[in-house]
Parts: sequence; C-alpha cells; structure tokens
Amino acid sequence: MIKRICVFCGSNPGNNPEYVRAAHALGERIAKSGAELVYGGGNVGIMGEIANAVLAGGGRAIGVIPKTLVDKELAHRCLTELRVVNTMHERKALMSELSDAFIALPGGIGTLEEFFEVLTWAQLGFQKKACGLLNIAGYYDHLIAFIDKMVSEGFLNESHRGLMVIEKDPAAIIEKLKSHKPVITDKWLNEFNLNRNDY
Ligand code: AMP
Repeated sequence: MIKRICVFCGSNPGNNPEYVRAAHALGERIAKSGAELVYGGGNVGIMGEIANAVLAGGGRAIGVIPKTLVDKELAHRCLTELRVVNTMHERKALMSELSDAFIALPGGIGTLEEFFEVLTWAQLGFQKKACGLLNIAGYYDHLIAFIDKMVSEGFLNESHRGLMVIEKDPAAIIEKLKSHKPVITDKWLNEFNLNRNDY
C-alpha cells in the first residue's frame, strides 16, 4: 500500500508551462488518493507547485530540508510538517525511510541525483519501493535513450531498467506504481564476472 509518495522535482519551474501544470496535476492526484507527499520542503519552482497543489486538495505535505536551506529562507512555511535535518545525506535517508514510492518530475541535477540514488538502491536490492519517472512533454526522452544505451552497452541489466516505471500522464502514474512488482536480480550475474578466476 502506498501511504506516502516521495516526489523529486525541480527547484525551478522550467521554461515549458506544461511542467508546472503536471506538478499541479500530480499534487491534486496525490491528495485525492489519500497518500501524503514527501518532498524537499522548498517553496520554489516545481517543488512549491506540487506542495501547494497537495495542500489545496486537502492533502498532507511533509517537507524534509537541511538547516542551511531553511536559513536561506527557502523552506515552505505552511506545510503539514517540516522536518529539518543537518545534512543532504540525512535528508535523502529520511525521505526514503518515510516513503513507500518515488516519483521524479522534471528537474535539474538535484532531481536526477535523488532519483538515481533510490534507483541504485533498488538495483542493489536495498529497497523494494517503486520508482516512477514522469516524462512530461518529452523532457526525459534523451535520458531514457541513454539508459537504453546503458542496457545495450552492457552496463545496466534489462531487469534493472524495468525497475523504472516510465509514464507521461501524472494522473496515471500512481496507479501504475501501485501495481508495479519490482524484479530484483543480481547486479553482477553475467558471463564476464562468473568466468573470472583471478582471485
Ligand atoms: P534541482 O532539480 O537541481 O532543481 O534540485 C531539486 C532537488 O534538490 C529537489 O528535489 C530538492 O530535494 C533539492 N533542492 C534543490 N534546491 C532546493 C531548495 N531551494 N529548497 C529545497 N530543496 C532543494
């Protein structure tokens, strides 16, 4: 059951109004589904948009933010709960611990770093929570193509590629994550590694 959904997303709104619209739509859906939002706690860009949409829809939004960003007055002041932590590492650990599933909306390197960390943990079997990538207006097309290259070049197992639920529609992704059954296979199970005899 998905009680809390962690959303990683841009601290900027991006240039295409569809990104903000998608954040709003996802926020409304989260509130309607009865799940709580866990996110980075900011009131800027797409982050602020999704938190406000969840709150406006009568939902609960939990922000997890490092103290330094609170000191810069970047924290959202009207959240259901704001958890202030000391470091970025603590923040990511707490966001992950609190949540039952993860979604990345469009964003920059911060968003990617957060999303790929939880995906890496899934690949290693350290966590079994669904990871969704919302590809709004084709924003992640090149990234998806690169991930497919990782598979074709032998750096990513096809089954680990399947850990990522890719969806274009914010209204559909929650249902898709609910029914997703991650298949965890051994990351190092391949001919090359199995035939090594140098140790
Ligand atoms: P980016 O995609 O580079 O804009 O980074 C967004 C991600 O990094 C978010 O999911 C946040 O967890 C974190 N982040 C970046 N900027 C801020 C901010 N001003 N306030 C709170 N979190 C932020």
